[in-house]
Amino acid sequence: SLDQTGGGSGFVGRELTRLLRDKGHEVTVISRQPGPGKITWGELESGGLPPCEGAVNLAGENLMNPLRWWNESYKKDLFSSRIDTTKTLAQAIAATTTPPRSWVLVSGVACYKPSLTAQYTEDSEWTPFDLLSRLVKEWEAAALLPENVTKTTKQVVIRPGAVLGRDGGAMKQMLLPFWLGLGGTLGSGRQPFPWIHVSDLAGIIAHALEPPADTPSPSPQVFNGVAPTLNTNYEFTKELGRVLRRPTIFPVPGFVMNTLMGSERAVVLTQGQKVIPKRTQEAGYQYKYPDLTSALKEIVGN
Ligand code: NDP
Repeated sequence: SLDQTGGGSGFVGRELTRLLRDKGHEVTVISRQPGPGKITWGELESGGLPPCEGAVNLAGENLMNPLRWWNESYKKDLFSSRIDTTKTLAQAIAATTTPPRSWVLVSGVACYKPSLTAQYTEDSEWTPFDLLSRLVKEWEAAALLPENVTKTTKQVVIRPGAVLGRDGGAMKQMLLPFWLGLGGTLGSGRQPFPWIHVSDLAGIIAHALEPPADTPSPSPQVFNGVAPTLNTNYEFTKELGRVLRRPTIFPVPGFVMNTLMGSERAVVLTQGQKVIPKRTQEAGYQYKYPDLTSALKEIVGN
């Protein structure tokens, strides 16, 4: 079968494309750049959605782009790159006579208010309280399909924590300082650190792409894309030091993070949420890397 993936060229998209091709699917990437096996967003808008079994959106300006200062134009790009691509794909799905069986949006856990104690499942109520939670609200709203389309197309939202893998995300920027022995806790270190191995996130997306057995529900199914183990930033820091056999004695104070990254963005590292993948586990997803030790060993190994 065929799947269309917005942002399929990125860190998570490459892992998902590999997994889907291994399962025998054909994947078309929707990209800003034309190329083999790709269509552009402009082609999607003018030519419509090619017939396919599933559609996914993973497109978005990188939140941790070290080459960009935290300013209004960057914030605007973070919003528009996610919301406009999501709207374009949802509109293309609504307009086609051959809609896909499933439509998966990957958003984030920033919708849940950081707390040292609260635990969040997919059933937790939330209202926006800061910039990134407002982003998640608008992004997920942009994905909603008109009601008549939801009878044929299953809508899914997956909310991942920090995605851990060798080729992108947070690890790509953390490995060098940790390798040099310059790693340490961020902020107090007591904040929860919701995470997932990139291969499990791809697995959860592939699971969500499976066609529905019967008439799908009119509202989206939500899955938290996090590992089933809760960890703090301190635990993450010490475990990464242990698998790398490096000391982690250089804590970075919260105010330094805020100055370097902008406080609206630093929250994803200096604060965190205890996120439980309740529905992900109820749906029968089996994690390959359910704990930090196995995940970090795979990433750092060899
Ligand atoms: P990447 O940073 O790898 O980017 C994914 C793709 O988005 C890129 O390959 C690019 O595709 C497209 N893109 C980048 N900038 C823009 C832009 N300004 N306008 C339109 N498209 C753009 O993302 P990840 O794979 O790491 O993440 C995938 C999704 O998951 C993102 O939406 C991200 O917010 C979300 N997420 C990621 C987490 C993580 O830790 N990585 C954590 C939680 C959520 P092309 O160049 O082909 O157009």
